[in-house]
Amino acid sequence: MNEDTKEYKGFDTSILYTYKDLPDIQSGRCDNCGNAQFKSSVKNFTFIRECRQCGMKKSI
Ligand SMILES: [Zn+2]
Repeated sequence: MNEDTKEYKGFDTSILYTYKDLPDIQSGRCDNCGNAQFKSSVKNFTFIRECRQCGMKKSI
């Protein structure tokens, strides 16, 4: 498996998606690239999950 050949689904990583509007396609995985490692932060009392690979952000 070569990480460079991973396909992205074309989500805009500059947008903060919300879990309510966009539930995980595969639970615990990034919708954009399928990566399962995330960086977590809290902003304005909202939990933000950011993909470590593509940077797609979603509030949970
Ligand atoms: Zn991703």
